[in-house]
Amino acid sequence: MILPREKAFTSTQLTEVEGILAEYGCSVTVIAGTTRTIYAISGDERDEEMVSRIEGLEFVERFDRIQAPYRLMHRASDLSSHRVKIGSAFLGEGFHVVAGQCTIDPKNPQYFLETAHAVKEAGAVAIRGGVWKPRTSPNAYQGDDKALEILLRARAETGLPVSTEVMEDRHLQVVIDAGVDIIQIGTRNALNYGLLKLVGKGTAGTNMVVLLKRGMHMGPVDEFLCAAEYIAAGGNPNVVLCPRGTKPELDGYRNFPDESISPLLKARTWAPVVVDPSHSVGKAAYVPFASLAAAAYGADGLNVETHVCGSKGIGDDPKQSITPATLAKLIRDCKEIHSRSAGYLVPVQKA
Ligand code: PEP
Ligand code: MN
Repeated sequence: MILPREKAFTSTQLTEVEGILAEYGCSVTVIAGTTRTIYAISGDERDEEMVSRIEGLEFVERFDRIQAPYRLMHRASDLSSHRVKIGSAFLGEGFHVVAGQCTIDPKNPQYFLETAHAVKEAGAVAIRGGVWKPRTSPNAYQGDDKALEILLRARAETGLPVSTEVMEDRHLQVVIDAGVDIIQIGTRNALNYGLLKLVGKGTAGTNMVVLLKRGMHMGPVDEFLCAAEYIAAGGNPNVVLCPRGTKPELDGYRNFPDESISPLLKARTWAPVVVDPSHSVGKAAYVPFASLAAAAYGADGLNVETHVCGSKGIGDDPKQSITPATLAKLIRDCKEIHSRSAGYLVPVQKA
């Protein structure tokens, strides 16, 4: 990882750097952070001669060699001052909530539009809504391109950013063309490295945020951070980590709730943590408790399923969605708990 002395290299400086790296079989990806642009190296970056030639350039401040399997996502990386922004909200400052339906029903757009206005009223900073759905059964509703128009209409009406999941290249291209604000990578694709690379490259240099769910079969926390690294290494540092419960489930819950990993993530990475309590416990009645726990564990926010009339919803909405009234109370209570948990510092893990 190369850090420039100024905010970014000029094109002549970048060409000179690339020329040296190429001699050692390495190449560079430009990653524009909020405070500084950094240059990630692909290839074996340990060659001492290459390192000293780069360090010798007067426009280079530093050459960092973090040894962890994830470098850009590391708490000590040059991206550590990068701030991920959703609309006007900076994640990591206060507690922010993305809320909305699991699934947008293209046959009943009024529910989604009503939900969008209601979650805004309740204090959410962005609206979620599934256009395409990864369903366990191929016979279940799979989504519909028409739902994207409804999502965009909700954005136009409320002025809030919108979030939806992509599962394949075509979805990705469609949401990039539409300028969707937050791209969700669901639990099933958290280990789909090909898709993660495409998402990072396809959104490089944009303000698009990638909300990466934790894989439901993921083990060590580092596996999650490595998945995030694929997105950042593609050129987009606007990554949000989203624990959403793992398998095997806790008897009675849909998954094994994992909001408790929030401080572990924060010890290792600078990336914001936004917990999904809905898929974690899988039942609306338990969602408030998982949400409050996430705030207590120091998460930066929630991604929570909410519906104005859950019983008329599709996908997970009849089971999991909370009402806008519950959401409004929850946002207030979580902000309060979060402000208290913010008083406890997480130890920073060394490089
Ligand atoms: C969702 O957010 O509706 C969803 C399908 O999430 P997950 O990938 O966590 O199951
Ligand atoms: Mn869902």
